[in-house]
Amino acid sequence: MPRHDLLPASRIIGYVESSRNCNFRCSFCAMTAEDRAFIAYDLDDIRRQIDALGYRQCVMFLDQNFFGGPRSYFAARMALLKELFEQGKFGGWAALVTADFFANADNLARARESGCIGFFSGVESFSRVQLTAFNKKQNLLQPQEEIIQSCLEAGLVFHYGLIFDLVEQRIDELLAETDFIVANPHITLPSFLGFAIPMLAHRLQEASVLRGAMVMTAAVFAIYPFAATPWMMAGCAMLLGLALGAVQPMIMSALHHLTPSHRHGEAIGFRSMAINLSSSVMPLGFGLAGTALGPAAVFWLMGAAVGAGSWAVAGLKRAFSAPAG
Ligand code: SF4
Repeated sequence: MPRHDLLPASRIIGYVESSRNCNFRCSFCAMTAEDRAFIAYDLDDIRRQIDALGYRQCVMFLDQNFFGGPRSYFAARMALLKELFEQGKFGGWAALVTADFFANADNLARARESGCIGFFSGVESFSRVQLTAFNKKQNLLQPQEEIIQSCLEAGLVFHYGLIFDLVEQRIDELLAETDFIVANPHITLPSFLGFAIPMLAHRLQEASVLRGAMVMTAAVFAIYPFAATPWMMAGCAMLLGLALGAVQPMIMSALHHLTPSHRHGEAIGFRSMAINLSSSVMPLGFGLAGTALGPAAVFWLMGAAVGAGSWAVAGLKRAFSAPAG
């Protein structure tokens, strides 16, 4: 049971899970790569999680697919949520569902009467060709613009994202999608557009991206002390953001790839611990070093440390090419 009591008290939003993993296998998704079976939690567990939260204006289900599993299980969860909603345990709930949820209009009605306020669903593309390429067959059951419209007409918020695959799609195809959305007043705008990582990951190995990012970071630290104007500093900050931002999602996939599955939690925990430790210790250490040696020396020290680390990444290439144990 999550220790909600450790977080600062909030009445706005609380997070709950009723299942793990996904019953679909979309080609671009990390869930497909992890290849784990869909698991549904029992109703008592969900009830305990909601009780442990205390009253929240919105209970958000973090499941990959809230609609996964047998339909009888979905009906039982709707009945439980209706009961808890009528008891005033929360002000509303929201969840991530796959497009097959919308194929039956009764599902929206049931969700609405049990206190649902909205959904997130991965639209990814309005093109049937692209959805087929993504192996997103559940999104081919009905036109996606009709799904969005039916959800909005039921009085429920509809959030979604689009994925642009620049390896397979042309720019004019992407523009046609955005033109289609903007020209359609009956559907909402996407909450996000994603495309950069598939493009990078398709062409480059994780170790190469990691090494490139570290070399670029070291170079930015080396030249930063010479940045004499705000524009030069902004340019350096932009390059730094680009280098660190490009590699960040790959760190998680590399951790999963390199670590045996039964030690994933340990690896992610160690990563969080290292980040928190460095966030506490480094400002203090750099403050001391900056006072003693000057700010430029701090940049160069950091640059040298990151640059030296990039050599160690070369040794990881063999590990990346071997399957995790
Ligand atoms: S439905 Fe969503 S979570 Fe499931 S595999 Fe597809 S993208 Fe991933």
